[in-house]
Amino acid sequence: MQFDNRYATLSPKLFHKQAVESLPKPKAGHFNHALAEQLQWTEAEQADWVNIINGTNLPNEADPLAMVYAGHQFGQWAGQLGDGRGLLIGQALDQNQKLTDLHLKGIGLTPYSRMGDGRAVLRSVIREYLAGHALHHLHVPSSNALGFIYSHELQIRREQFEPSAILLRTSDSHIRLGHFEWINQYQPDLLQEFAQHCLENYYPDCLNAESPILAMAKQVIDRTAYMIAGWQLVGFAHGVMNTDNLNITGSTLDFGPYGFMERFRPNWINNHSDNQGRYTYQNQPSIAHWNLWVWLNNLIPLANTELANAQDKEQFKADLATCLEDFEPAFLNYYRSGLAKKMGLPQDDDRCFDCGMAFLRILQAEQLDYTSSFRRLTDHAYTALRDDCIDTRAFDDCLSIYQAIRKDADQNSLQLNMQQHNPIYILRNHMAQRAIELAEKDDLSEVERLFTLLSNPFEKQAEIERAEDLAPLPSDQPEVMVSCSS
Ligand code: AMP
Ligand code: MG
Repeated sequence: MQFDNRYATLSPKLFHKQAVESLPKPKAGHFNHALAEQLQWTEAEQADWVNIINGTNLPNEADPLAMVYAGHQFGQWAGQLGDGRGLLIGQALDQNQKLTDLHLKGIGLTPYSRMGDGRAVLRSVIREYLAGHALHHLHVPSSNALGFIYSHELQIRREQFEPSAILLRTSDSHIRLGHFEWINQYQPDLLQEFAQHCLENYYPDCLNAESPILAMAKQVIDRTAYMIAGWQLVGFAHGVMNTDNLNITGSTLDFGPYGFMERFRPNWINNHSDNQGRYTYQNQPSIAHWNLWVWLNNLIPLANTELANAQDKEQFKADLATCLEDFEPAFLNYYRSGLAKKMGLPQDDDRCFDCGMAFLRILQAEQLDYTSSFRRLTDHAYTALRDDCIDTRAFDDCLSIYQAIRKDADQNSLQLNMQQHNPIYILRNHMAQRAIELAEKDDLSEVERLFTLLSNPFEKQAEIERAEDLAPLPSDQPEVMVSCSS
């Protein structure tokens, strides 16, 4: 690995350096060798991944630290948070010289643990490991993970006792919107240095702009819009979009009570701890907008610095507000273009979006599975789709408009779009659950199978596929319950 620990050069007020508290008798969970290659792990490092993840053989250049941040949780100011069970062990350059954070989760108490125990359970670590991998291969910007270990020796209390685990995850950044909130609240003198760090490391092009801060704000807004459009298009619901769980590079972070939607229900809540339904699937774009608004407010104190290059504070506030106006059109633009690809319709045709919406209304009314319905459309399995509808007239109307729009277009390229944007496999809750239950009995074969399946979600893999991968559980079987407990 080629370390370049840039976060550690910031003010020590922003973190706490400490060692990993290892798991007793660690067992190998799973390791992503392809990602390790990309991150330039040596053969020796790859061979000793269990001890690296357990912190007992960290590379010499690793310099573990817990970050402090704050945030708004479920819309309320939550004060100081921080890595309560995680450590940034360092930052490494990948094969393309791209800076990547290496972060261990489940390493014991830190000064930011609050009431928590500093640990993570095997169940939630497997869910995070597979979800990051799944989103990555669905081409949605996301953190990913190199691997995980677990231990039966250390049992962790949640609703019941569960095996402990440590995840080694990667992300282009762990700087959260909530980092800015913490700085403004507790160490405002650090804001300029911190903004400069974000610009230099994540938005270097913006340094040459007239107002580097406004330029960065625009890019953060655009990347977030792109990520959320990606979530909506693959049916992903994050479940806990607090400002401390969104980062400044617009890549998915902190998988907890997330879910991939099965039957199409826009007001679907996967997180059973979310009683108000704040983080439903359909709310994600507006919540992202709200989170960005909170974040932009935290840039206002930069008004009189060179980074803002503003006439005065009022003007700068107005300019920040103007930046946020770009969020909705940017999101809609990404979403419309993605939906056109999923539908196999030409993007320049005005009827395309309405037709996509009509198809979604059918999925909603008939409670059809989101992923497999789009795949049936891809495979021209119109009869099978129609057979699952009660209101066949609505289906026939939609199909005739659909076919009329497609008639004069280039079929081959549209078909390719569909195949590349409509996955056969997503990570359904019950798939993850089965892998977890077997892993808890030391059988990692299902983790391995899902890892392989989700590496290539757009390709049929008949030799390893199970019928349960392709559809929701039958309605007489209980849904897998997912909550914030992890
Ligand atoms: P989350 O919403 O799961 O991302 O977590 C919110 C905050 O709680 C973060 O500061 C986490 O580090 C912290 N946290 C979550 N679980 C634990 C735990 N078991 N021990 C210590 N801190 C935790
Ligand atoms: Mg979090």
